[in-house]
Amino acid sequence: MKMLIRFGIIVYLAFLFVVPTAKGQIRKEIRIPDILGYQTLKCDFHMHTVFSDGDVWPTVRVQEAWREGLDVIAISDHIEYRPHSEDIDADLNRSYEVAKPLADQMGIVLVPAVEITRNMPPGHLNALFVKNANLLEREDWYEACVEAKEQGAFVFWNHPGWEVQQPDTMKWWPEHSRLLNAGILKGIEIYNDKQFYPKALNWAQEKNLVILGNSDLHEPSQQQYNGEDQKRPMTLVFSLDKTEAAIKAALLDNRTAVLFNDTLIGDRRFLTPIFIGAIQLKSKKLNLQNQDIKYLQIYNNSDIPFKLQQRQPSVGFSCPKEIILPPNRTVSIELTGISDEVAQMTTLKMFYEATNLITKRGENLPVNIDVPNK
Ligand SMILES: [Zn+2]
Ligand SMILES: [Zn+2]
Repeated sequence: MKMLIRFGIIVYLAFLFVVPTAKGQIRKEIRIPDILGYQTLKCDFHMHTVFSDGDVWPTVRVQEAWREGLDVIAISDHIEYRPHSEDIDADLNRSYEVAKPLADQMGIVLVPAVEITRNMPPGHLNALFVKNANLLEREDWYEACVEAKEQGAFVFWNHPGWEVQQPDTMKWWPEHSRLLNAGILKGIEIYNDKQFYPKALNWAQEKNLVILGNSDLHEPSQQQYNGEDQKRPMTLVFSLDKTEAAIKAALLDNRTAVLFNDTLIGDRRFLTPIFIGAIQLKSKKLNLQNQDIKYLQIYNNSDIPFKLQQRQPSVGFSCPKEIILPPNRTVSIELTGISDEVAQMTTLKMFYEATNLITKRGENLPVNIDVPNK
């Protein structure tokens, strides 16, 4: 009996200490609609660890990404700048190898990458999907880039407007033309950390470069972004599925957009379906006959707010000049001055532009809201 009681106490204590401490981590999902038969993947292709000049161990980058709702990351430690090398003596593939098992377990796609880190020109370049990063350690920067190409890497220009390297004006150098013409340079960061480079967006449009927006994390993520006025930027990739091969194919096919602090930049062919996919009219039909005031409920089911400004008045009725559709909220707007003629129509048309959805040409995205009546 005594034995049994003792055993019971042991079991009880085991539960007391083991079970309640088994707390889970929490992931914040980011809701952005899938479009055109593609999955909308949230990606960050630029960050550092203690294997170069970052402050954290590679697995921490995976955990941060998971908690912050990302699907894909690339740890891109510097090839030529490794200030912790006296303490961490490892080859250039090591940060990837350390993070990979956890990434697999957590369902984060980890893309093998490095940052080619040179003075301007050509500055800093990320090479994604490298097969062996060690072979990119070359005296000559161009040879490193050729090696990246031979490994099938996707190469993009990092922080092209970084003041340390472009102090006076942001310049496109002949070296970048050389990389572009050789089919090596495929993309450009239009946003890095907390900085937007409108000029890089112009270059992307002119030269058909893929646009990217990345964190370039060195500190722990929560230290670098407070989540309120500074959110972690990301590259949206419209991919057939969540595999490394499909993500690479999507990048090569120029299927990206960049999200930073509630501004979304990308090709119209992606932005329009994102807006349409995020918006639902709550009231199915207005039934306007014999009414002169009606309310329309619009639900934004995404995590991107939409800031709408009227771009041309509607015919036969009035609607607000400005509408803000906050994330995951329903907004009721008033339609007034409805003419008898409009009350008989089957669809009412409203014409806006979204001031926080910017096309690759740098223009606000025009959006129409068609409201069924009758
Ligand atoms: Zn850099
Ligand atoms: Zn970097």
